[in-house]
Amino acid sequence: MRLYDTATRQLQELPAPPGPIRIYVCGPTVYQRIHIGNARPFVLSLWLKRWLERTSYKVTLVENITDINDKIYAAAPGASAELAARASEWYVQDTGDLGLGRPDREPKATETIPQIVALIEQLIEGGHAYPAGGDVYFRVASYPDYGKLSGRHGDEEAVRNPSEEEEPSELKQDPRDFALWKAHKDGEDTWWESPWGRGRPGWHIECSAMAEAFLGPVFEIHGGGIDLVFPHHENEIAQSRAAGREFARMWMHNGMLRLAGEKMSKSLGNIVSLREALDEWGRETLLVYFLGGHWRKPIDFSDDALGQAAAQAESFRNVFRNPAQPSGDWDAFEAALDDDFNTPEALAVMHGWRDHELLGRGLEVFGLESLGQSETAPAEVDELARARVEARARKDFDAGDRLRDEIEAAGWEVRDVDAEPGFQLVPKR
Ligand SMILES: [Zn+2]
Repeated sequence: MRLYDTATRQLQELPAPPGPIRIYVCGPTVYQRIHIGNARPFVLSLWLKRWLERTSYKVTLVENITDINDKIYAAAPGASAELAARASEWYVQDTGDLGLGRPDREPKATETIPQIVALIEQLIEGGHAYPAGGDVYFRVASYPDYGKLSGRHGDEEAVRNPSEEEEPSELKQDPRDFALWKAHKDGEDTWWESPWGRGRPGWHIECSAMAEAFLGPVFEIHGGGIDLVFPHHENEIAQSRAAGREFARMWMHNGMLRLAGEKMSKSLGNIVSLREALDEWGRETLLVYFLGGHWRKPIDFSDDALGQAAAQAESFRNVFRNPAQPSGDWDAFEAALDDDFNTPEALAVMHGWRDHELLGRGLEVFGLESLGQSETAPAEVDELARARVEARARKDFDAGDRLRDEIEAAGWEVRDVDAEPGFQLVPKR
């Protein structure tokens, strides 16, 4: 199996099964219900884990929850810890409703403070970091490979376009340097004691420490949205490699989700939450929608795109409602997924399948086996449909139409078919 690697900018072969394949994915910063764009790396990583396990790999998936961050302090001044705890629960609930299972470990930054402090201490000892006024900064000049992942070196960008966690500081020896530890500020309701005084970790060091705590000093795949390549992932690599860890061997960055052609972001005010999307479209349609886009490319989120995904989900249900025909080829499906996890191609292959067992097996990889679950109408609806067949047989079409209306009012659609008993009942969506 091969996957595109951001670091080498080419497809990389995974080690042979059983691996292991250890995966770390940057999870959300929790201060509100996650938006639908944040669901993409979650869905992708769970699908990848499911597929690798079906092809005999041993997989460990770690996906963190960032529950210490400037955004959280800003969203709930004086009560950030409470908000982060509540928003973590929303995240687990909403992603749980996708029905894909959960990562093996979901560490929180607040539960990894001792490891974070130990890693910062090592970086200071090695000359890669320095304390200044209660903060600790990473010394970018001490790590010559800085910028290799992103092709960006941070010099002018660190000044012009500070990341969400960085602000220009007099305490930095170099504007590229970034905070590993931040001294406690008035109004921040969470802090931890450290060798540098009371404070809390920077965002980037949280991931370096959590990845190592749960996967060890080296692992196969690091994932996250393409917007995290710089500075977040560039900084993670710098911290971990400067501390002597090999860290991630491959980097997998998913494309962004765009709303009406624009990247969905809080600053643009064009956010749709995963919760809203689940309530409006249901998990099956959402999953088919994600399947239709290659993980590396941006995807557009619109009523149109979701409507098409709903129609595709329905066409799979129809395959199961009709008699099976032995057709299809698992190899084509497997080849699509093993070649850079090409889900749009795998989706196209499945659309050609009329073999119920085969299609059920393919859909199951993506948590969509429910599309093949039998739908049995209640006995009274079945009675109405039988009465309608009889009415039509005696050419009483008015009665037939009335019965159809009654069936629809009960939430079912009746379709005429040749096979006995002459109709098919399908839930109305
Ligand atoms: Zn991260």
